[in-house]
Amino acid sequence: MEIGFIGLGNMGRGMAANLLRAGHRVTVYNRSPGKAEALVGHGANAAGSVAEAADADVVFTMLADDPAVEDVTLGAGGLVASLRPGATHVSSSTISVALSERLAAAHTAADQDYVAAPVFGRPEAAAAATLFVVAAGARRVLEPMLPLFEAIGRRTFVVSEQPHTANLVKLSGNFLIASVIESVGEAVALVAKAGVDRSQYVDILTSTLFSAPAYQTYGGLIARREFEPAGFAARLGLKDIRLVLAAAEQLQVPLPVASLLRDRLLTLVATGGGELDWSALATLADRDAGTGSDHPA
Ligand code: NAP
Repeated sequence: MEIGFIGLGNMGRGMAANLLRAGHRVTVYNRSPGKAEALVGHGANAAGSVAEAADADVVFTMLADDPAVEDVTLGAGGLVASLRPGATHVSSSTISVALSERLAAAHTAADQDYVAAPVFGRPEAAAAATLFVVAAGARRVLEPMLPLFEAIGRRTFVVSEQPHTANLVKLSGNFLIASVIESVGEAVALVAKAGVDRSQYVDILTSTLFSAPAYQTYGGLIARREFEPAGFAARLGLKDIRLVLAAAEQLQVPLPVASLLRDRLLTLVATGGGELDWSALATLADRDAGTGSDHPA
């Protein structure tokens, strides 16, 4: 298949590489030049513009946030203006439910197809093709995309024919991950202040009742205080908690824990931690406990 891939950040570069590995013709585009070079070395074509990357059957976007996806999709020379009729936009960024609804309407009006396919998994999983893809869209449009999702992930969950439902499921998952980070950070600060070794404590948790990947990954990062380089930057985590709160407000579902997480992430970002991994939320618990902080709070 002819595939365009827009957004070669931490996640996008691994996903594009795996589509190439699966034998597809992939044309890549990134706003800042230079990020396409490694992929070109592996056989990708480099596009000079969004419109050039859109000359394909399917175009993936893996961009930072709503403004980026809005710009690339709805802006002048964007995907809606450039994709041929019948071509499909696969939107994998973690974006708002509201924007996903707008993208679906804009593509439909232009006789193009749209699928939301956000992912669970960090950059290591993107590179190793072990992401979990949460997909939604019309069955007719989604089915031909399934082999592409197999190329980037270990399992695909089709949740609805309404694309924005996949975005809601993804946002709800990130709300839970942030809850895990905050609560593990608090628990580690508690026991560390009493002299318990952080790594041993996380080992106890993850070897007993808390063996899920979220506890293993984030417990490990918190125990090692390994907040740089960011696999998922705190500024993006704050974006996701804002988006889950917006979706919850729209549906009139109170999420009191998400409101607290918004303030914790805002504190982290406001005190210079926006580019740290969002597991650096744990530094706030350390600071509050007087057990020290690696970050300039
Ligand atoms: P990232 O490393 O910060 O990359 C962001 C990408 O978006 C870059 O290619 C950047 O281009 C591009 N971009 C930003 N603003 C733009 C604009 N206005 N116009 C065009 N391009 C723009 O982010 P990431 O970690 O790959 O995450 C990408 C998406 O996946 C986000 O929605 C994130 O929430 C989601 N996600 C991330 C993870 C994770 O663990 N990292 C996991 C699951 C989902 P430049 O190179 O020019 O800045």
